[in-house]
Amino acid sequence: QTQAQTMGFQTEVKQLLKLMIHSLYSHKEIFLRELISNASDACDKLRFEALAKPELLEGDAEFAITIDTDDKAHTISISDNGIGLTREEAIEHLGTIAKSGTAEFLSRLTGDQKKDSQLIGQFGVGFYSSFIVADRVEVFSRRAGQPPQAGVHWESRGDGEFTISNVELPDHGTKIVLHLKEGEHEFADGYRIRALIRKYSDHIAFAVRMRKEAAAVEDQAKDAEATSEATSAAETQYETINHAQALWTRPRTEVKDEEYAEFYRHVTHDFTDPLAWSHGKVEGKKEYTSLLYIPARAPFDLWHREAARGLKLYVRRVFIMDDAEQFLPLYLRFVKGVVDCADLPLNISREMLQQDPAIDTIRTGLTRRVLDLLAKLAKDEPQKYATFWKEFGSVLKEGPAEDHANRERVAKLLRFSSTLADREEQDVSLEDYVGRMKSDQKEIYYVTAETFGAARSSPHLEVLRKKGIEVLLLSDRVDEWLTDHLREFDGKSLRNVARGELDLAAVQSDEEKQTRESLSKEHAALVERVKKALETQVDDVRVTARLADSPACLVLGEHDLGAQMRRILEAAGQ
Ligand code: ADP
Ligand code: MG
Repeated sequence: QTQAQTMGFQTEVKQLLKLMIHSLYSHKEIFLRELISNASDACDKLRFEALAKPELLEGDAEFAITIDTDDKAHTISISDNGIGLTREEAIEHLGTIAKSGTAEFLSRLTGDQKKDSQLIGQFGVGFYSSFIVADRVEVFSRRAGQPPQAGVHWESRGDGEFTISNVELPDHGTKIVLHLKEGEHEFADGYRIRALIRKYSDHIAFAVRMRKEAAAVEDQAKDAEATSEATSAAETQYETINHAQALWTRPRTEVKDEEYAEFYRHVTHDFTDPLAWSHGKVEGKKEYTSLLYIPARAPFDLWHREAARGLKLYVRRVFIMDDAEQFLPLYLRFVKGVVDCADLPLNISREMLQQDPAIDTIRTGLTRRVLDLLAKLAKDEPQKYATFWKEFGSVLKEGPAEDHANRERVAKLLRFSSTLADREEQDVSLEDYVGRMKSDQKEIYYVTAETFGAARSSPHLEVLRKKGIEVLLLSDRVDEWLTDHLREFDGKSLRNVARGELDLAAVQSDEEKQTRESLSKEHAALVERVKKALETQVDDVRVTARLADSPACLVLGEHDLGAQMRRILEAAGQ
């Protein structure tokens, strides 16, 4: 099929375009970062495919991204000699949004510019951000390895449809031409663009080039004349603007925080700053470099099963794959970044990653690195740790079940609500709790419920509150799963106060014990009657020291399933 075709954007794209143009207006220069980022991805992909098929390079092995501006025509174009797109790929990738949960994401946008720009940035606007500054966008692209006639011309005004046709393109790769809107002509100014490249794209591993400014070219022409060098004009007219070196290969001391933050944005498409990062090289038997980030916000798809997770994998600086999941456990799925392994084969596949024992070693190392980073954050920057906990705490709570070896380390990172402050905010660590335990208290008390409110007003707390004994208030969905796997901390067992016989001996006076015994005797007949009446519903009826104000409460047996677990299993049809 070669003729021109006009097609509609997917509904989600139309919605996104409309919202984006309004809410990102104050960050409009990000389009350049997004397009350079895509060009860099395209070069990465071709370099990878060319490992097995060198002929795809068509003799052009020097990857570069070239930016041209034309201040008379008011255009800016971004070209790369990367993988390129076929006609089908152009229709699919430049007409739809593949991300799962997009519709749900869009429904969360409010129309409030400030809030929406935050959300949209997190979603990763990518290619469509071109339409913030352009009223017409053209894409010329040819997939590497395809004949020149397989070139594609895609064009849209961002108003709901695009046209696509075939054109002959001698070179593989992609060129994107933005026809700037009235009022956005500044983006055809070479100096402005240079500044933006240095600001946003310095870390891109490929050269980002621009034509030299006229004055510089004239100087050089004079020099060339003087030395009578016959350098070709085309070669000398371009200069590299960015650092053009993979950021993680640079020494830590040389990389500025701002550069780390920009690189984070490149990897994640999230445009808030990361909370923390860890950059390091491990030498020895397994040699690898990693740069791992803790985001400041949960992505919109954190709880989607199919959501992408994992690190970008490189082998000796050659990009191998996105979302390599094997390098971190599931409970650290919020971590983003890059791992560059020196000893893996370049042709390693996902299947091979699963079986390679070398990966386990690296995974163990990276897991420790993240846990150490979090511990340091908790210690040195509690404010940031609180943000982390709010966003990702319930994911980290999966840790003790998944990662036995690091159970104690993860346990130290956990934070809970407790009866001490009686606030929903989870800021009590197990170490804090243990430090405040009564001298003869042996266990760490907690209660679980559906909601914080229910946990807080649980009748099981009455007597403990009266005695000033702190109880952890657990109401996250994963909490029972957590307490099933985290049975103790610092030698003290965790104790559900709604379960079995509560050993209050330690905190009860002799007098109280006597009172309870005599009460038990006194009310033996009543207990018998209640037991009879509830015969089919409960196992036992007892006089209790648990309650202070309520007349009665339900208690779980020592080995019964917790209410949350029961609900989860019921929901799963068990
Ligand atoms: P993302 O980069 O997150 O995938 P984008 O909206 O930025 O989302 O890009 C959408 C898709 O369009 C890319 O995944 C890629 O398949 C394709 N694409 C965009 N720019 C290029 C390019 N310069 N070369 C090849 N493919 C591209
Ligand atoms: Mg992109």
